[in-house]
Amino acid sequence: MRTSSDPEVQEYGRFDSLLRLVRSPIGAVAALLADAHGRLLGFDGLTHEAAQSFATLLCLNAASAPLRSREGDLHPLGTAVLRAADGATLGWLCVLDHQPRTLDSAAQSVLGDAAGIAQELLCRTDEGCLALAIAGSGTGVWDRHVPSGEIHYSSGWKALLGYADHEIGNRIDDAYVRVHPDDLAYVQATISAHFEGRTPAYEVEHRLRHKAGHYIWVCSRGKVVERDDAGRPLRMIGTTTDVTTLRGVSEQLRQNVELLTDLTDEIPGMVFQFRNLPDGTGTFPYVSAGVADIFGMTAEQISGNSAVLHEVVQADDLPALLASLEISAATLRPWRHEFRVQLRGRGTLWRLGNAQPKRLDDGSVIWHGLITDVTERKRIEAELQVLATTDFLTQLPNRRHFMQLIEAEMGRVQRSTTHGAAILMCDLDHFKAINDRWGHGVGDEALRHFAIILGRAIRRIDFAGRMGGEEFAVVLGDADVASAVIFARRLQQQLADQPLLLGCEQIPLSISIGIATLQVDDVSAEAALSRSDSALYRAKQNGRNRIECH
Ligand code: GH3
Ligand code: MG
Ligand code: MG
Repeated sequence: MRTSSDPEVQEYGRFDSLLRLVRSPIGAVAALLADAHGRLLGFDGLTHEAAQSFATLLCLNAASAPLRSREGDLHPLGTAVLRAADGATLGWLCVLDHQPRTLDSAAQSVLGDAAGIAQELLCRTDEGCLALAIAGSGTGVWDRHVPSGEIHYSSGWKALLGYADHEIGNRIDDAYVRVHPDDLAYVQATISAHFEGRTPAYEVEHRLRHKAGHYIWVCSRGKVVERDDAGRPLRMIGTTTDVTTLRGVSEQLRQNVELLTDLTDEIPGMVFQFRNLPDGTGTFPYVSAGVADIFGMTAEQISGNSAVLHEVVQADDLPALLASLEISAATLRPWRHEFRVQLRGRGTLWRLGNAQPKRLDDGSVIWHGLITDVTERKRIEAELQVLATTDFLTQLPNRRHFMQLIEAEMGRVQRSTTHGAAILMCDLDHFKAINDRWGHGVGDEALRHFAIILGRAIRRIDFAGRMGGEEFAVVLGDADVASAVIFARRLQQQLADQPLLLGCEQIPLSISIGIATLQVDDVSAEAALSRSDSALYRAKQNGRNRIECH
């Protein structure tokens, strides 16, 4: 026979030794302790099922009849009430035997003493607190005899629905009338499933009509404790708990979550929570609906492991993106980073991320932030960049940009022992005369014409710029004076071979060129530029359409 000391019923074990001590002087085969709500607190000498049934009967004030158990009938010999300091019933201690008999005074005082000890213990234990807590928690107990359709409720149960003890009948049909019409089919289906043994217990949340007319939400739990030989349910006991407040809170919570989701989904871009676990795994516990637009993915796809994003982030941008997150995690400073993504059917798009990091107790770092589409801004920026660095007439780099390029080339020359570079200053000869004879528009055409020829003549490692007026400069990478002279001659020849055509009229053009080299000891690119300028001056002096070297 099982006692409550068995591991699976360990939670009832606290009072076992006391119950065993009570049994022997009284000569009872079984003893049990139950709280005011029919919860079993301890038992000895009978099965858990039988003990639980009897505990429920005690709570329903129906414990005078013998209890039929598999081990035979058990008759209650005596029951002592346990009371709290304010007189409220805390529970009962009951001794049982196979034969009914009256306890003598000695046995009664043993029972009374044991109840006193249990009461003392109960007031100090978690179970006692729980028993008192249940009293105020809105839980009631019921016991249903299935074949007869009779159901008994504890006073606590009746109080839940606002009824006094005598105000509620004990027919199951009346019970169903109190269930909200919308919930009835579901409740009955859940009970049937348990009756038919398809579920180990019955548990359902539904509405019950209060005496005052309104409905309260309850959680109803129960279990068949007796079946006939064919397995049909005979008896079922259970509890009903008022969960109206709880549901109110969870409804409020649901509404708050809905509001938050609506808000984040309406914000253009992707609102997110990103968490980097100590093992390095990145997860997205939350992303707004914008994930579809920003990464062309669903929340499910990226939530578990952020590594799937590596497929859409442009390969060139991935190392910098990961490094930026690492820095933010290490310093806990805000993360701000721009990167490109490649989305199927949508091409290359720019993304800007902004987020605030926070370190969690487990060592992970969590960011809350927003990733937006900045493709259009990037396009405008690139356009402005071109406008700011390009000469509008010839589409060559303007003077300012050319100076930046030549400074960078200067750095390369100074860092290298083998790499040299030559600079050529070119000026159209007698240009003023073209303007004077054919007009300014044709002069512009001549500038464009030369710029095209120049652009075609240079290699990938060279660059040219319009320095102003009809003056152009060229830097030849990896070149010395000799190779620069060869280039200059070829350029003059190409210009001579391709005069500007004005209708069927040909306008011959020529240039003078001054050549210098970038020197390792030049303090700036300006110095080299001015050397090529003085060589150009000599080319003009010496008759034009010439090449002079510094
Ligand atoms: P040289 O052979 O000595 O270089 O004589 P030049 O006439 O080419 O030089 P000069 O400096 O005397 O005259 C340059 C002219 O270029 C003066 C200016 O009006 C003209 N010019 C400057 N910028 C532009 C432009 O953008 N378009 C046109 N059409 N003319 C320009
Ligand atoms: Mg000129
Ligand atoms: Mg000039």
